[in-house]
Amino acid sequence: MYYHIVPSRSRLDFRTRKFGFRGSRGKKHISDSTVTNYDKNLITKIRQRFAQSNLLNKLRWSHYTNGSKSTKDAGPAICNNCNAVIQGRIVTALNKKWHPEHFACNTCRKPIDGSKFHQHDGGVVCVPCYAQHYSPRCHGCGEPITDRVIQALGVSWHSNHFVCGGCRKELGGGGFMEQAGRPYCSSCYAEKFAARCASCSKPIVDKAIIALNAKWHGACFTCKKCRNPVTDSTFSVLDNMPLCGKCA
Ligand SMILES: [Zn+2]
Ligand SMILES: [Zn+2]
Ligand SMILES: [Zn+2]
Ligand SMILES: [Zn+2]
Ligand SMILES: [Zn+2]
Ligand SMILES: [Zn+2]
Repeated sequence: MYYHIVPSRSRLDFRTRKFGFRGSRGKKHISDSTVTNYDKNLITKIRQRFAQSNLLNKLRWSHYTNGSKSTKDAGPAICNNCNAVIQGRIVTALNKKWHPEHFACNTCRKPIDGSKFHQHDGGVVCVPCYAQHYSPRCHGCGEPITDRVIQALGVSWHSNHFVCGGCRKELGGGGFMEQAGRPYCSSCYAEKFAARCASCSKPIVDKAIIALNAKWHGACFTCKKCRNPVTDSTFSVLDNMPLCGKCA
């Protein structure tokens, strides 16, 4: 079964309410302090499945020996393909018996060689043909995927090819964040796309204070004079920087 992961919400959720002067006192407001700038909950979990594992069938090789009654295959076996008696090696597969040369791949027509095969559209397909023609293809490298399939961004990937668009690290474990159709780990996503603090310029990955037409870390929104964080909901302004109640 395929799952398509489609981001359902925008990654950055800013409140855009304007904060103006209040009355004649020239004070400004800090925005709603619960505003979310970067939401860790928007990480998309990766879906995985295993290619083919439940489609892979086994065949059994045995040997018919005249007069032998000790094996299950004792007695003349009839080939399901040509209806002739099988002398010598017998392939048992799909609850039927076959000449080895008559148990052949639907696609390349070669006898199935080895102990495993696939069924596809009611026919028998050898393992290499199945990988080549019927396996999911990796969106990263274009090659067939025969083991773990990562399903993300609506396509399939080899687990080692579903990597962060920033640091190229494998994204298998913790999920990813998406921007413009590319996956990123949470730290690269924050580095590239989260809002920057107007004071320290670092990305804001938690609550942002929105004030003075900018976004700030709570700890970085400090009084221009005493350098203490401004936590009151109203504050004064000096040179486009906040002043706390004591210093105003
Ligand atoms: Zn036959
Ligand atoms: Zn084949
Ligand atoms: Zn790949
Ligand atoms: Zn990264
Ligand atoms: Zn900061
Ligand atoms: Zn102050």
